[in-house]
Amino acid sequence: MAFEVSTDDRLTTVDVTDRVRERVPGDCESGVCTAFVEHTTAGLAIQENEPRLRGDIESFLRDLVPDGGHAHDELDGNADSHLRASLYGPSASVPIRDGDLALGTWQSILLVECDGPRTRRVSVTTVDGR
Ligand code: ZN
Repeated sequence: MAFEVSTDDRLTTVDVTDRVRERVPGDCESGVCTAFVEHTTAGLAIQENEPRLRGDIESFLRDLVPDGGHAHDELDGNADSHLRASLYGPSASVPIRDGDLALGTWQSILLVECDGPRTRRVSVTTVDGR
């Protein structure tokens, strides 16, 4: 199962928790759910969805990875996006309990867009552990 996410900025985050949750089978008592973004310039993070923190994540990625000066830029000019996305990685796994994501109180699944605006595809795979 998969869904698409439209992003509206070059570097931004989008909360996809509900869209992942909708794809968890309600009859799965115990298992694991993996969300996977099928791109090399976006990642997934499990973090608090708090507007200032989301801004901090963007600043953190900008500060950590310079915009230019990378070898891959000679090809398509977006090495910074690849490098920023690789810091979070393409997937997030969450335990399933009683047909729902067993996230902590302040945990959300954030898509970390590093080369937007774009439409991103996220696949959701659940494994029933019974
Ligand atoms: Zn590239």
